[in-house]
Amino acid sequence: MTNSNDLAYIDENLRIIRERCAEAKAKYRSPDDNIRIMAVTKTVAPEAINRAVSLGIDLLGENRVQEYLSKAEQYDKSAEVQFIGHLQTNKVKYIINSVSMIQSVDSLKLGQEISRLAVKNGRVMDILCEVNIGGENSKSGVAPAELDQLIEELRELDGIRIRGLMTIPPPSGSDIFLGRMKELYDSVSSRYEGMDTLSMGMTHDYAEAIRYGSTLVRIGTGLFGARDYSK
Ligand SMILES: *Cc1c(COP(=O)(O)O)cnc(C)c1O
Repeated sequence: MTNSNDLAYIDENLRIIRERCAEAKAKYRSPDDNIRIMAVTKTVAPEAINRAVSLGIDLLGENRVQEYLSKAEQYDKSAEVQFIGHLQTNKVKYIINSVSMIQSVDSLKLGQEISRLAVKNGRVMDILCEVNIGGENSKSGVAPAELDQLIEELRELDGIRIRGLMTIPPPSGSDIFLGRMKELYDSVSSRYEGMDTLSMGMTHDYAEAIRYGSTLVRIGTGLFGARDYSK
């Protein structure tokens, strides 16, 4: 068992994150803007995740289906869970009824499977289109030039609602890519109804991402410390 004092670093980390978010918002955004903080849970123990929830975190981000399924039962159920990792179509069935949004939709094929299972389960799934803004081979996401076509195709499907865009920009030169994402988001959200989410910003760039219009920052190491993949 973890002693609760051992988790006090999370309180301090979250205090700093909230402070920096508030500063960036005061500087660059309107007071009415809502910017959510998501706690990214990969490799993090349920006690630590629940500590963050007890401090007011109401949104958790999951990367891996298997890991999520193995931990979900121990989660404080008051937080909303969204899927943010690369998702194989054959795994959608495991999460369709337990997450409120799938942020990582980058192909029609994945959208079709989410649609099929959402309809089957009598629900509507919120999704974001993941954009590969840096054009990196190593990353998932639709190319900016193909985004409109993907949105058009996804809009034809029942059981899904496209709420906006998500991105993981290249680690360096991040500013340029954050700016491009803002342009892309402004463009699509002005043309398509119902978009209200730009999921952008991680530990190293969340303040900058807020400057460029993010409505949802996804924080892992900044909140929980360095990830230990050996466990
Ligand atoms: C791991 C991860 C994050 C959080 O990254 P940190 O740098 O630890 O804050 C955010 N988004 C996605 C999609 C991730 O996989």
